[in-house]
Amino acid sequence: MADGVVLITGGNRGIGLAIAERLAGDGENVVITTRHELPESQLAALDALGIHTVVGDVTDEAEAQRMVNDAMKHGEWLRGLINNAGINRDKLMTRMSTEDFNAVLQTNLVGAFNMSKPALKLMQKQRQGSIIHMASVVGLTGNVGQANYAASKAGLIGLMKTIAKEGGLRQVRSNAIAPGMVETDMTDALSDKTKEAILAEIPAKRFAKPAEIADVCAFLLNNEYVTGQVITIDGGLTL
Ligand code: NDP
Repeated sequence: MADGVVLITGGNRGIGLAIAERLAGDGENVVITTRHELPESQLAALDALGIHTVVGDVTDEAEAQRMVNDAMKHGEWLRGLINNAGINRDKLMTRMSTEDFNAVLQTNLVGAFNMSKPALKLMQKQRQGSIIHMASVVGLTGNVGQANYAASKAGLIGLMKTIAKEGGLRQVRSNAIAPGMVETDMTDALSDKTKEAILAEIPAKRFAKPAEIADVCAFLLNNEYVTGQVITIDGGLTL
């Protein structure tokens, strides 16, 4: 499998980095996307793990295509694409600006489309490949203050299912992971009061570790018959 590239968007921190570290540890040939050139020290640490980087923004269609091309310089074929890059700009619906709504859709949904299109073309030619989309439980349930984010993640699930149908004939699989709360910068930004209120709703009484999301990702990369599915990993939050 070392000649097959696994490309992860937003792999420089949080869940994306945990996935990169896990898959590199499994012997996968991992390439991550970063929005900016990383500091030398971070590049050296990634290099030590055998993780390559390509630079670009998923919201730009041409850059997305170029990042897929650049990633392919590191291997013979595209084994996996993990659409992980994402942002949130939370506000109650009545106070949410159109700009904030569009920005979140553009990154979380259009960005995934921009990356998946060239990836799917390659995978269909290869007659194999796995695309994994980082959705969220709020794409299934909706959430107060997250009209933009929930809509983007619900849209991502629709995109995922369509790719599974269009790619199925040529053995391309497409699945989504729907995490609940995960310990990353994104959830660190929440106030202690909000964190406590959410924790009270989680039967597991803790947030997930990014490595626990990476675990599910490794499963979806390797299993050859699961497709079109959303795997929820939320400590029971949505029960
Ligand atoms: P972080 O905020 O820690 O990291 C987000 C990553 O996405 C960063 O690498 C960031 O790059 C990158 N990114 C953002 N915008 C773009 C862009 N336009 N082009 C390329 N890369 C971009 O987030 P998490 O690790 O917490 O989340 C990862 C994914 O998991 C997201 O899709 C998120 O919605 C989803 N998720 C997270 C949950 C959580 O509780 N943390 C729960 C459910 C889903 P940079 O470093 O340059 O900003």
